[in-house]
Amino acid sequence: MSAPTTTRVDPIAFAQSLIRCPSVTPEDGGTLDLLQQTLEGLGFRCTRLPFSQPGTPDVDNLYARYGAASPHFCFAGHSDVVPVGDARAWKVDPFAGEIRDGYLVGRGASDMKGAIAAFVTAVSRFLEERSDHFDGSISLLITGDEEGPAINGTRKMLKWLADHKETIDHCLIGEPTNPKFVGEMVKIGRRGSLNGVLTIEGVQGHVAYPHLADNPVPKLLTILMNFLNKKLDSGNAQFQPSNLEVTSIDTGNSATNVIPARASARFNIRYNNEHSAMMLETWLRKECDAVMSDEAERYTLDLESSGAAFVTEPGPFTELISQAVQKKTGRAPELSTSGGTSDARFIKDVCPVAEFGLLSGTMHKVEEQVPVQAIEDLADIYFNILESYYGS
Ligand SMILES: [Zn+2]
Repeated sequence: MSAPTTTRVDPIAFAQSLIRCPSVTPEDGGTLDLLQQTLEGLGFRCTRLPFSQPGTPDVDNLYARYGAASPHFCFAGHSDVVPVGDARAWKVDPFAGEIRDGYLVGRGASDMKGAIAAFVTAVSRFLEERSDHFDGSISLLITGDEEGPAINGTRKMLKWLADHKETIDHCLIGEPTNPKFVGEMVKIGRRGSLNGVLTIEGVQGHVAYPHLADNPVPKLLTILMNFLNKKLDSGNAQFQPSNLEVTSIDTGNSATNVIPARASARFNIRYNNEHSAMMLETWLRKECDAVMSDEAERYTLDLESSGAAFVTEPGPFTELISQAVQKKTGRAPELSTSGGTSDARFIKDVCPVAEFGLLSGTMHKVEEQVPVQAIEDLADIYFNILESYYGS
């Protein structure tokens, strides 16, 4: 490596600078330029990976790697943020990066510019101590499309990495995982998510002449109740039980004297690793066929999977993270698979992945904020992870 001009990055000042780049998805707002400039100053080779696809917003992304040898540890995250929401409910400018009563307040403070600042701080401190005898690789994989459709982001970056023979051995994502304090929870997997739309075709008619019509509503309700009455599983050591939730029922009928022509329902299944989307589809169709037994009866069931269940089994990698946390906090974190989906659903196909970041309490809310101490603590823990990953 060329000798980098290593200077330790201050995590709070850097988090403030990142927040001041307004990167409401899919805008970049200068975030990636700032990150690239800082990482190049630390000796990273940076590659911008802009992607586009018809019908989706163009997105810029950044891959930055230090070193060329293995093992290769990757910090992954996103530079985009969700919109401000009710702007009048903010007491400060969401993009000013203000510190108020020991809290950094602003859009992205916890999700996840604070964590990106902690990545960079930990790396700068590690390289300050180790750059002259470091034999491995550290990278940052930062997408501008996590809060958006997630089509032109991590998924395509991983394809680019594979095409360019860039092999990552382990990955840590900086999503906010801690309910109350930094070090409380590490996420090692997520449940899968399957969206369904069930539509029953009937025959429209007058409510006073039901024999001349075929009301689709009772059949829809029967099928939905059969869905809901099925216990999918009891959960297991890594996962809570799977659940199916009906989110909408609709006939599109505003008249009081009309039997509707069709009725449809939307539902979502959050499922654990005892199921696959295909197994669930087989079961759902069986339930539909049982009620819609008559050949003339018609239904459509559209299913869309937005990520399969996965878990990084507890082992040396999760243990290394746990110990790095414990070294800082004195307590072992809970290893959890709770919560919504994240880009870990893509990265898990490439290498073992875990998620650990800031506090989740105010993410996506107005007045998003995080204690400045939490960012400092997170940077210390990320540093501990690097030290123990590469040995002393
Ligand atoms: Zn996030």
